[in-house]
Amino acid sequence: MSQRTFSIIKPDAVGKGHTAAILADIAAAGFKIVAIKRISISKAQAEGFYAVHAARPFFAGLTEFMSSGPIFPMVLEKENAIADLRKLMGATDPAKAEAGTIRKKYAESIGENAIHGSDAEDTAAFEIGYFFAGIELK
Ligand code: ATP
Ligand code: MG
Repeated sequence: MSQRTFSIIKPDAVGKGHTAAILADIAAAGFKIVAIKRISISKAQAEGFYAVHAARPFFAGLTEFMSSGPIFPMVLEKENAIADLRKLMGATDPAKAEAGTIRKKYAESIGENAIHGSDAEDTAAFEIGYFFAGIELK
């Protein structure tokens, strides 16, 4: 059954001009792009998005980074979308990511790692609703 997940092309990848290449990789892997936009978010908006990580030592750096430049939040759809996107992204630390994955190809460090992908159905639902209205998701 078809499933939706949420992804963000992060400020490092956007700034380096990798957006189109990453979207091409996503399309080649069979994902349909249901919604996408280019926006810049405030630190407070990044803190709301990453609230589950509020107690982590990297929280301040992460939210500073995510509000440092434009990002492309998007909703993607395919069978097994959540797990398949995580696989296409590669490990959180690009040094540990498999060859051919988006993080291996486009990311520099564990902090600035090119792409976000939801990790479960409940987080995908929260994250889609954080960035998109129902009317944008037909
Ligand atoms: P994401 O949620 O962005 O898809 P992930 O699920 O692979 O990535 P999480 O553990 O959810 O990883 O961490 C969220 C984000 O926080 C990571 O993508 C990374 O940008 C940052 N992060 C995680 N661990 C570290 C760390 N040890 N040092 C710096 N930043 C980190
Ligand atoms: Mg995560």
